Amino acid sequence: MINDKVVNTRVSKKLYEKIFNKAKKNRVSISNLIRNLVEDTLEIHEDIHDAIDKKIRKYLSDTEKQNILGYQEITLAKDTLCDNCGKELKTSDTAYVAYLAESDSKIILCSTCKAKISKSEKKEPHATTADN
Ligand SMILES: [Zn+2]
Repeated sequence: MINDKVVNTRVSKKLYEKIFNKAKKNRVSISNLIRNLVEDTLEIHEDIHDAIDKKIRKYLSDTEKQNILGYQEITLAKDTLCDNCGKELKTSDTAYVAYLAESDSKIILCSTCKAKISKSEKKEPHATTADN
């Protein structure tokens, strides 16, 4: 407890009453209640930031799209999100796993994104072939 710090903060009478009543209701001290609230809030925000980071990282870049080796149709065994558009996918929905040529990561795609990406993929090689 030697390393614990004390935080003093000024609150309105109204907020104090809210905190006081909540602490009374939960049978905890005001300090405990506030400590828990702050901890929970900070943790939730960190989780949200992590989730956003993950989403941005997973969002397919053009290079990744061109590196897709193939797709495998799967039936989902749990709810997940499309790694490209973030659409919610439910258990027993059909999704597609995209395998990348230069990476071990597997990307989950909804049918819309799979159709969109595989279409744009096919167009490019044909266009270059036509130029030759
Ligand atoms: Zn999608």
